[in-house]
Parts: sequence; structure tokens; C-alpha cells
Amino acid sequence: MKRENRMQFRDLKAQYQHLKPEIDDAIERVMMSGSYIGGADVEELEEALADFVGVKHCVTCGNGTDALQLALMAWGIGPGDAVFVPDFTFFSSGEIVSTVGATPVFVDVDESTFNIDPAKLENAISYVETHSVLCPRVIVTVDLFGLPAAYDSISAICEAHDLLLLEDGAQGLGGSIKEQRACSFGDISTTSFFPAKPLGGYGDGGAVFTDDECAAKLIRSFAVHGKGLQKYDNVRIGMNSRLDSIQAAMLRVKLRAFEEYELQAASDVASWYCTQLDACGLEDEGIVAPIVPPGFVSSWAQFTLKLPAGLPREALREEMAAAGIPTMVYYPKPMHDQVAFRDRCVIPPDGCVVASRLCDRVLSLPMGPYMNEAEVINVCENLRSVIKRQGMK
Ligand SMILES: *Cc1c(COP(=O)(O)O)cnc(C)c1O
Repeated sequence: MKRENRMQFRDLKAQYQHLKPEIDDAIERVMMSGSYIGGADVEELEEALADFVGVKHCVTCGNGTDALQLALMAWGIGPGDAVFVPDFTFFSSGEIVSTVGATPVFVDVDESTFNIDPAKLENAISYVETHSVLCPRVIVTVDLFGLPAAYDSISAICEAHDLLLLEDGAQGLGGSIKEQRACSFGDISTTSFFPAKPLGGYGDGGAVFTDDECAAKLIRSFAVHGKGLQKYDNVRIGMNSRLDSIQAAMLRVKLRAFEEYELQAASDVASWYCTQLDACGLEDEGIVAPIVPPGFVSSWAQFTLKLPAGLPREALREEMAAAGIPTMVYYPKPMHDQVAFRDRCVIPPDGCVVASRLCDRVLSLPMGPYMNEAEVINVCENLRSVIKRQGMK
């Protein structure tokens, strides 16, 4: 077989090569065990994850979207309820609100962190309280691109308005604020094991985290057809959302690597990028590197730049691709513009101008713990020459 030389946006094959003996052992062990759903691997993974994050309970499930939905189900969120969601995120963060019949209220984000803006959140809550028949119930925060949201301010807002906090940590796992790990900030927090996430499996998977034993029990029930004490005793309408044993076994291997060196390696890659962007004069060209506020640690799910206004992003991406460098746009469309939410969401009167602007200007570069410094230099030098060329057009 020919080895592919083209740079990967996130090099999952390099990771497999690195962990191959342990992953292959894990797969074989599960195949030989004859039990493929649940079991000891799932239980041990849940314990290890709860330990890593620093919460009492972890319940694994089918994917990160189900994890979010299970949280809303456990809280009984439904029609007539308002759920506040950042306008700049992956679709799931708002989709699950509509799935349970509640109404998403889209809140603008902070220009420099890309995360929900606490001041705009306050405005949105006041607006819903005074101008709608909806009952404010939940704030969804997203740790976008790996950076935890501004939990100091947001927790205070939750308390002041008696709202529940749901942390969507699909991209956040591994990040922290002053030693407190992401996926522990919400009353319930969730993550995803989609392959390209910071802790990715080899297929779909997700998890819910909480210190609330009652919520954890409800979620275990909802995730398996609303089961009661026995398997064929169904006491509520639930769903079928479980993590496969084979995914759990592989994730146990990956969690060790994640903790031992991958998080540090991703953070080294981010530092190389920042140094190179500066050295290549790209910051002088108006390119803004991602910021990490003091005390915060990012898991670097993405390394996302802001391009200067007016730079033709698609042309730039094409030229980068021609040079063998894949780039991505996370996300091209704000939530409030998604057709699916038309007539079924609330947009506060001050709008979501920052989210719209970011959608036009963000660009994510190749990222991951298995990138080396030469690759980072190559990306930045190519970016510089493409931008110089475009400047002359
Ligand atoms: C990936 C992602 C999800 C959904 O996770 P899946 O496992 O793909 O269902 C939810 N929220 C955010 C912010 C994500 O990035």
C-alpha cells in the first residue's frame, strides 16, 4: 500500500499507528469475550472518565447529541420552556432543544473567545422574561474549539435567574479553568467521542457527566428505553443510546494517551502556531490567532483563526488545498440562520452580529497532537505566500 503524504486536517491514522498494539489487543479482547454492548469495559471507562473530569457520575451513550438530549429529558424540559444556546456552534447544541419540544433562544458570542457572551446572555434572559410566554429553564454553554466558556460569570447568571446549566463539552474535554476540568462545570455536562473530537473513538459515542445522583439514574434509564428496575420493565419513554463495548475498550486506551501526552502535545502545536504566525508577519496582515484567557487551558479541538475583513476565504482555501494543506470552516452559518430553526427559535432584539461576522471570517488550520513543528511551519509559510499573492490581485 502506498503511504499518503498529503497533510491530514486531523491525523487519526498517525494516532492509530502510535497506539496500534494496545488498540488491537483491546479489539481482540472484546471480540473474544462474546459480549459486545455494555459490560466491564464500559463500566471501567465511565469510572476513568468521571475520575479524569472530577465528577461523581459518568454515563456513556450513543453520541454527543444523544448525551445533550438525555440531559434535557432528565430535567423534563419540553414545550413552553426556553433554552439559551450560543449562536455560533455545531447544530446539535440547538437541535436537541427543538427535539424535546422546547424553544432555543440564540445568544451572541464573544468576538475574542468565540464563546457565549455573558452580557448578551443577561439581555436575552431579561428579554424572554419580559417579552415572551416562555419559561426560561436552561443555559447551554459550548466549550467551542476546546476553550471552556466563561463559567465564573455564567454560573452567577444561572444562580441569579434560577436556571440549569448544561455544558456542551463535545469539544471541551481536556480543557480546564484554574485546574477545574471541562465537563464538570454544568449541573449536567456532556461530551462526544466522534473520531475527530479531542478524545475520539473509532465510531460514534458520547457521555454525560454530573454530580447529581438522581439525574445520573434517570439518564441511565432514559438511555435504555426508560427501563425500570429490570430490563423488561419500562417505566418511561426513553431512547436506545448505548456505547459499544469495543468503543469503550478502545477509548480506555485512548484516554490514557490523552491524559499522558496528547493534551500537552496539542498545546505545543498551538504554541508553535502562535510563534510562527507572528514570525511570518501574518498578525501584521490582520490575521488574529485564537486567544486563551489567563487561567484557562484549551483542549485545542480546533485551531481557528480570524481572517481580516474582505479577504476572499474560499479562494484562499483553494490555494492552500493546492499546496496540499487542508483547511476547514467551523462554522459557515450562525444557528439563527439555519432553515430548520425558522419560526421555531427566539432571536433577542440586539441580534447576533458577532456570530454572523465570525461565520464569514473564521478559518481552522490542521491541528492535532501528532503534528510536528515542521508541519506547522509549512502551514504558516504557505498561508503567508497565499495571502501575499492575494494582496497583489
Ligand atoms: C460534535 C458536537 C456535538 C455532537 O456530537 P455527536 O457525537 O456528533 O453527536 C455537539 N456539540 C458540539 C459543540 C459538537 O462539536
